[in-house]
Formats: sequence, C-alpha cells, structure tokens
Amino acid sequence: MEVYSLKQAKTINKLRVLNTIRFEPGVTRNMISEKTGLDPSTVTKLVNEMKRKRMIYEKGILPSKLGRHSKRLYVNRDFSKAIVVDLGVTHSIVGISFFDGTVEVVDEFDTPDTPEECFRVLTEKVSRFPGVFPLIVIGVPGSVDKTHKKLAFAPNLNRWRDIDVEKYFKVFEVYLENDANLAALAEMMRNKHFGDRKNIVYILVREGIGGGIIIEGKLYKGSFNAAGEIGHMKMYDRGPCFCGRVGCWEANTSISHCVRQYEKKKPLPGNTMYEKFETLCRIYEEDPLAKEVLDEFTGILIDGIVNLVNILSPEIVIVGGEGVFLPESVFEVIVSETRRQVHPMDKEVSVEKGSLSNKEVVLEGTSILSSMMISERLV
Ligand SMILES: [Zn+2]
Repeated sequence: MEVYSLKQAKTINKLRVLNTIRFEPGVTRNMISEKTGLDPSTVTKLVNEMKRKRMIYEKGILPSKLGRHSKRLYVNRDFSKAIVVDLGVTHSIVGISFFDGTVEVVDEFDTPDTPEECFRVLTEKVSRFPGVFPLIVIGVPGSVDKTHKKLAFAPNLNRWRDIDVEKYFKVFEVYLENDANLAALAEMMRNKHFGDRKNIVYILVREGIGGGIIIEGKLYKGSFNAAGEIGHMKMYDRGPCFCGRVGCWEANTSISHCVRQYEKKKPLPGNTMYEKFETLCRIYEEDPLAKEVLDEFTGILIDGIVNLVNILSPEIVIVGGEGVFLPESVFEVIVSETRRQVHPMDKEVSVEKGSLSNKEVVLEGTSILSSMMISERLV
C-alpha cells in the first residue's frame, strides 16, 4: 500500500480534478465529485485554486431539473504549450501540444536514415518555437528504456539501438514513449466508447505492427518496458524481419509489405507509404491485384488478432493506424473471421476500427501525455 503525505495527496486530488475537466470538457463541480469520489467541498476548493492560477475557467451553465444550475468547467488551452513529435519510420510530424491536451501540427519531414541527422533536423525545427515548456514528448516506432530517455531498439528505423535522445536536446527534457502505447492512450482518453472498456488490445498498423495492451484500465508495460511488441510474434516460416528473425507477423503483414507486393507488378500513386496504402484500400473493389494483395494482408492480420485474443481475452481489439482505411467489406471479414476462429470463451470480443486517423493518433497520444506531465509540474 502506498502512503502519501497530505501535500502529495492534495496534488494527486488536484490532478484528478484537472484531468477530469481535461478529458470531459464542460463538467460541473458535482459531476467531478461523482466521478472522482472526492467530496464536493474538496472539489470546490481545488477548482477555485486552479481557477485563480488560470489553469481552468468557467463558461456556460448546465441546467438542472432541481433548479440548481451548475457552471461548466474547461481547461485553459493556452496555459502551457509544448512540442510533441510523432517520429515515424518514413515520415515524422511535429506538433504543438496545449494544456487542454489538444494538438496542432506545425511541421512534417521525411525521417532521415541516421539518428544523428534525424535529431539534428528535429532540434533545428524545435528551436523555431520559443516560449514553449522545456519538455518534448516523442512517440517512437520501437521500445524505450525505463528512463524514457533512450530509444532502446527500433528495428524498422534501420535497427537504431541504444540511442540517448536527450543528449541531442540542450535545454529540453526528453520523454520517449512507444508509438502504439501512445495511440492506445489517445483512443482510451478521446473515445468514451473505447475508454469504458477495461481490457483493450490496440493494434497500430503502420510500416510495422505495434501494440498497446491495456489491462484493467492500465497500459501494460511488462517488467522490461517492452510489452506490446506484437509485430514480432513469429507466425510463419517466411519473411525476413528487421528484428533479425524470420516469419514475424509484421514482416508478413505491414503496410510496406502490402505496398511492396503490389508494386512488384504495378506502381501505386502516392508520395508516401501511407498514401500508397490508402490508394490500395480505395481501389480494392475494382482492381483485382489490389484485392489479391489486400485479401492476403487481411488473412494474416486475422491470424495475429486471433492469437492475441486467445492469449489476452480482451473486450475489444482496436485496429488503428493505417488500418482505419481498410474497406468496410474487408473489415467485416476481419470481425466475423476473428469471432469464428477465437477460443469459444472469447466469441463476444469486439473488433473495431480506431476513431483517430494514422496521422492524428500518435501525435494526439503525445499531446495527452505531455499535458498530463506538465500538469504534474505546475499544479
Ligand atoms: Zn521481427
């Protein structure tokens, strides 16, 4: 059991109140009290304190049948700004994260081949935004060490290993997190429909396959901070993987694999791997080669989903990233086949597309995390 001092307990309560307002904009004091279990006088005290600091504000009224109208509360978006990054395998996005957890894209660039060049480009971009909070949250396509400062291993990023990312940023603290974990966090906090579920497997379909595993409402990181590397389940005897093995799930089913299969016979229009995959999904019905390639991709995707359901027995599997572009007819097959093939006890598992696009989902996760970390420092 953890024991907190009074001051720590107050900070924790304040963060609970602040996060309730952040993720449910427009809540009233009574609603916060119900949701957090804190008594109404404590909520009022904490709300007033944060109002005085201009972290939150009141706007509008929620009418009540009992005649006691309550003021709605919101987090002050401009209270802090920070830089967040979705470092992708081929393409990266820079955003400005606001105190309410929302984010705006400010720059994009093709990810350079080496860490030196990549972080040189990134630090140069970051220096263009003065007045930001000295913390950068970066989503990475790989695993990070326990300090969240080092990129431990990213097979798809030219096998980058043990990269001390913070050393590249002079005045900023760096916090790295696995991209699929951030995507899972984004879906959980932004989509009530998903967030109400306790056991979730989030599958980030990109150049590789990443996983975010939520158990009993908490992100599962494992003993070595490397849980969720679902793309490296060995499932076949074919397909060399960037991790060094043969037959990993992602070596047989990523979007890059899919695009490459198609482009062995015909070029696909599009500047990025993402655009090409989206084209492939769009022409599925009328282009026999697209149908053949995507049907094979779908079959392999289903094999992995069934394995994950059999191991973890989740309430819901969310297929996100580029997976949100799969045609509806294809997605219906994924749902019905998963249910048909899983263990009889797991037949009621839901399989759904993510609610956020590939471009939004990881950056949204970095922003949510960034705003929560900054709150911890400022409340
Ligand atoms: Zn692998």
